[in-house]
Amino acid sequence: MNKKKELVMSGIRPTGFLHLGNYFGAVRNYVRMQEEYECYFMVADLHSLTTHPDTKELKTNVHRVLSENIACGLDPDKVALYCQSHIYETSELYLYLNMLAYQGELEKTTTFKDKVRQQPDNVNAGLLTYPVLQTADIILHRAKYVPVGKDQEQHLEMARNFVKRFNYRYGEVFPEPIAFNFGEELIKVPSLDGAGKMSKSENQYATLYLSDDDDLIRKKVMKAKTDSGPAEKNSQKPDYIENIFLLMKLVSTSDTINKFEDDFNNCTIRYGDMKKQLAEDMVQFIAPIRQKADAIRNDEKYLKEVMEKGAEKARKSARATMELVREAIGLNYY
Ligand code: ADP
Repeated sequence: MNKKKELVMSGIRPTGFLHLGNYFGAVRNYVRMQEEYECYFMVADLHSLTTHPDTKELKTNVHRVLSENIACGLDPDKVALYCQSHIYETSELYLYLNMLAYQGELEKTTTFKDKVRQQPDNVNAGLLTYPVLQTADIILHRAKYVPVGKDQEQHLEMARNFVKRFNYRYGEVFPEPIAFNFGEELIKVPSLDGAGKMSKSENQYATLYLSDDDDLIRKKVMKAKTDSGPAEKNSQKPDYIENIFLLMKLVSTSDTINKFEDDFNNCTIRYGDMKKQLAEDMVQFIAPIRQKADAIRNDEKYLKEVMEKGAEKARKSARATMELVREAIGLNYY
C-alpha cells in the first residue's frame, strides 16, 4: 500500500516580479518537495488586495507568478498550483478563524506594523487579519509543512496559535503547521544595498528579479555597497560585505567562494572583481529561468488549464476539510 504523503502548502502574492528572495526562500523548496509530498501552492491574489487595491495589473501579475514558478521547475501535474480566489472555502474558514484571533496579537504583528508605516492612508482590516487569512490558506488542506522565507516565521507562529485554539475549543481537526526549510534555518536574501530584504514591491534597484535582463543584473550587482577592503587580516565582515558573500553562496561554486573568502582574510580582496564574478554567476542562474518564463507567460491557454487543474485539486481537499470544520464547530442542525 502507498504510504500517505505528508501535506505541504505555501503561496506567493502576485504583487510584481518574482525575485531571488522568493526563489531561495520559497520556490526552490517547492520544487524540491514536489516529488515526496502532497503539495498545494497558490498565487495569493486575495492577500495582494490588502496592499494593492488597484487590480489593473492583477491578471498580468497572476500569469507572471504562475509562469515563473513553472519556469523554476514546478510541475503542475505533480502539485496543485492554483489561485487563492478560486477556492471559496478559504473565505469561510477565514471567517471562523477570525473569531479566534484577538485584536491585541494582530496589532503586535511585525508585518502589520511595517505596513501601517508604509501605507498610513489604507490601514484596512484585511491588513490586520492577514495572518488569519494565511492560516486559513494553510490549514484548509490540513498542511503540516510550509516552505517560506525567514520573514514569515512570526506568521507561522501565529498560525500555530490559532490552530491550538481551534483544536482546544472544537476538537483536534488540524495539525500545527511549521515553517520548513529541510531542517535548516529559514532564509533571508538581503537586498543589494544592505538595507532589509529583497522584495517584490520595495527597493526595486536593490532587488534581483528573475525577469531582469543580463545587463540590468550586472548594473545592479556592480552598484552593491562595498568599501576599500579590510585593514586587518581575518577581520569581521561588515553587514553589507557579508551580504555579498551570502548572495555568492547562492549562485557561485565553492571554489569561487573560497577564493574570495581567502582574499578577504588576507586583505587582498578586490570587491570590483568579486562583484563582476557575482554578476556573471547571477546572469548564468537567472537567464534560463527568465527565458522559460517568457515563453510560458505568452501561452494563456496553457495557464488557464494549469489554474483549472490546480483549483480542482485544491477544492477537493478544501471541501473535505470544511466538512470536518463545520461538524466540529457544531454547525450541523439536521
Ligand atoms: P514579497 O515580500 O517579495 O512580496 P511574498 O510576501 O509574496 O514576497 O512572499 C513569498 C515567499 O517568498 C514567502 O515564502 C517569503 O518568505 C519569501 N520571501 C520573500 N522575500 C524574501 C527574501 N528576501 N528572502 C527569503 N525569502 C523571501
